[in-house]
Amino acid sequence: MEESLATNIDLVEGTLPSNSVGLGSGPTTLGSWQASIKAAIRTRAGLLQAVGLAETFAETIDVATTDSATTDSAASAAEAEFSVFAPLEYVARMRQGDPMDPLLLQVLATAAESQPDGVLDPVGDQSATILPGLLQKYQRRALLVASGACAIHCRYCFRRHFPYASAPSSLKGWMPAIDYLRRDQTIDEIILSGGDPLMVADVTLEELVNQINAMPHIKRVRIHTRLPVVIPSRVCQELLAWIGRCRARVYVVLHINHAAEIDDAVVRSLDLLHAAGAVLLNQSVLLKQINDQADQLCELSLKLVDHRVLPYYLHQLDPVRGAMHFRVEDQRALELIQQMRSRLPGYAVPQLVREIAGMPNKSPITQAL
Ligand SMILES: *Cc1c(COP(=O)(O)O)cnc(C)c1O
Ligand code: SF4
Repeated sequence: MEESLATNIDLVEGTLPSNSVGLGSGPTTLGSWQASIKAAIRTRAGLLQAVGLAETFAETIDVATTDSATTDSAASAAEAEFSVFAPLEYVARMRQGDPMDPLLLQVLATAAESQPDGVLDPVGDQSATILPGLLQKYQRRALLVASGACAIHCRYCFRRHFPYASAPSSLKGWMPAIDYLRRDQTIDEIILSGGDPLMVADVTLEELVNQINAMPHIKRVRIHTRLPVVIPSRVCQELLAWIGRCRARVYVVLHINHAAEIDDAVVRSLDLLHAAGAVLLNQSVLLKQINDQADQLCELSLKLVDHRVLPYYLHQLDPVRGAMHFRVEDQRALELIQQMRSRLPGYAVPQLVREIAGMPNKSPITQAL
């Protein structure tokens, strides 16, 4: 289970072009993002140390438990179930010595994850799978799990229990899905998702995009990724080159939950993606104690639109086991959206949605259940 989502270094390195040379473009030289993956923090203890917190001190955030011995073992169990993974670039944006830092809380394994409520496949991904790695839930759009790996492990992720080891991440492995998409003329948009599709090397992604471009009925390629935010140097010349060459329109849907995730390097990456011709959207997950204040959500939205990223969705948490402590009540979520509406231009207010298995679309939340 956890191995399935855990970052697979061999996979990243195995797809590296053999002539890995820098292109002289400053920090975004070829191969540098793979080095960032290698250097990432992979333990709870390492993460706490990096932000100047003692292990015992950080336990105060585990509101559900009080006994420190129990808390310790519960936090270790959480880490064993879904490993900690946080690149240094992302950790550097956390405030030192603050156990409530909104970035830290997204990636730190805690005892609160041991709560038994929640389910393993809350959004019905298993039943929407057409072929290994290919899902279709909605009209016109098919989703390709291009990689099982991620550049960060978000504790609230609904994919933490999903069997991604079976997801192919090479052109050969994608061929059955590509053949299917070639035949199904009702599909006009392909969503590259994961895991994170940008964990795949650009040479391989370009091969995939060439296949997609050869299907005239595919009008749009959507890339669901957190990498430009987590490791901004992932937006390298090779990535920009294939985006620029893509015949189908490219939409990049980022995943940013808090304004503090956007530093100068992220801004540069967003500018580069935009200049390459991609339309930029963002989705966030509403998370208790991380972004459940109107001020925080407004600051994020304004920062996004000021860098040409439109807030697309604000997701209510999928009720996944181990993440229920991040849940915000619908009533509260609706109040937050109303406050955003009253303070921001309409285009800066995301749609508040939740995913309900079996529904024909993401479901807008308009009233508290
Ligand atoms: C969320 C999702 C999509 C995209 O839905 P939009 O509302 O178009 O953003 C497509 N396919 C699957 C399987 C999804 O989970
Ligand atoms: S939220 Fe996205 S980036 Fe984070 S673990 Fe889940 S799939 Fe990976």
